[in-house]
Amino acid sequence: MTWYLPETVWVDGRLASGLAMQAAAPVAVVQSQSTSSSADVVRLPGSVLPGLTDAHVHTALIDLPMLRAGGIAAVWDLGGPPNHLAGQARKNTMAVRYAGPFMIAPGGYPSDRSWVPPGSCREIHSPLDASAAVEEAHAFGASFIKVTAHADGPMLPPHTLAAVVDAAHARELPVVVHAEGPGTVAAAYDSGADLLAHTPWTENVDDGLVRACADRMTWISTLDIHGWGTPTAARTIAIGNLRRFWSYGGKVRYGTDLGNGPLPVAVNAREVRALGEAGMQPSDILTAMTENDGTTGLTWIPSGLDLNPEMFAQSIATARVLGPEAHPSPEA
Ligand SMILES: [Zn+2]
Repeated sequence: MTWYLPETVWVDGRLASGLAMQAAAPVAVVQSQSTSSSADVVRLPGSVLPGLTDAHVHTALIDLPMLRAGGIAAVWDLGGPPNHLAGQARKNTMAVRYAGPFMIAPGGYPSDRSWVPPGSCREIHSPLDASAAVEEAHAFGASFIKVTAHADGPMLPPHTLAAVVDAAHARELPVVVHAEGPGTVAAAYDSGADLLAHTPWTENVDDGLVRACADRMTWISTLDIHGWGTPTAARTIAIGNLRRFWSYGGKVRYGTDLGNGPLPVAVNAREVRALGEAGMQPSDILTAMTENDGTTGLTWIPSGLDLNPEMFAQSIATARVLGPEAHPSPEA
């Protein structure tokens, strides 16, 4: 196993020098002195950090090798056809965790949308059926359960939504809710769900509810789906909601909803800047973009990570997945 010895390593929320990092265990760092005699140490310019993760993509709608070339080392697929997903996880060098099909009310969102590939939705007809659907997802390797609550169409009744959450938690699967429209954030929270797939954007969420969510939930950011760089009312609302959620101690994950609209198939600097607008510092944003469990590989910033808030988005957008294609030169 190769140890990388870059100029700096981002670990424990800070940039440190003189440390080596290993792909299989980004948390396991050692002093350079103890490894420099080993033939397996590769010196690198710049910074190395745990692999950057996009926590909201749809792999059926994007090119994963292109995304990996754009600096993303790991993805969470939050809704797609099960057969496609299992295949993606097997054949890609990228770490792919997936939710499987959207669990929906009969006729509910997004089964009514043209962009949805066939087989992407699983209608839930009763609380008993909820358990069966979760079993199916678990059986083909899902890491999450994704449920939709869209106020403009049929929604699962509260007891059925709660049954999905209970069945998922019995399998230790977190539940991600697509909450869109009045009352849907409360419905997600009341059901016991763990994550929102998007920062709420259709209205300013009641402050008490934001505080309650911050105590227990993770919100996936997806701020740049609003306007793709052009200011919109929805973007302003979403950033306002996220700013409060973050200030109350809520946990945020970087996610872009890639596959949905003209988003860069890469690290999205606009999403990173929007997280900054919501009050997050560069080190907070890096925490939201990485996992410290050793499953996501390593990311390399050849020119060195710049943690200056003005420069950070530009800097992180130069990220490369640290793999064989990075051609680091072994120490002579
Ligand atoms: Zn999505």
